[in-house]
Amino acid sequence: MKISDGTAVQIDYTLRNDAGEVLDTSEGRGPLAYLHGAGNIIPGLEAALEGKGAGDTLSVSIPPAEGYGERDEAMVMTVALSQLPDRKLAQVGAHLNVQTGQGIRLATVTAVTGSRVTLDLNHPLAGETLHFDVHVVDIQEASAEERAHGHVHAHGGHAH
Ligand code: ZN
Repeated sequence: MKISDGTAVQIDYTLRNDAGEVLDTSEGRGPLAYLHGAGNIIPGLEAALEGKGAGDTLSVSIPPAEGYGERDEAMVMTVALSQLPDRKLAQVGAHLNVQTGQGIRLATVTAVTGSRVTLDLNHPLAGETLHFDVHVVDIQEASAEERAHGHVHAHGGHAH
């Protein structure tokens, strides 16, 4: 069976940035299970996996536009320390959810100066070219229920 829309796929992967640093890997926690064609994974990786078979390996470099998008400096904002839900969040690297016009987004605190806090609402991997090494572990026909839900249930997939 080849990877196509409606297949439940398991992959082992390692993700590195341009500097070769490992950003994420399935090593040590088992393969990632996803429903192909449902947008469960970034577009560039989904496209690269189309038509691959079990046991195949691939190395693919994905530009930001096919990954987590370009950085948008308009998504960086400064707020008063008093606007934070908790003073403990006033440290660089802290994460908090922020209500925006486009819904709730995860923000990262990137600077704290006096009573002002800088929040970056870009995805942490926005603007990064993503280098994936992938091993296709398994391909199955997804169940009707999985296709209806838009995600897989088996093998460490979505839990309800
Ligand atoms: Zn489900």
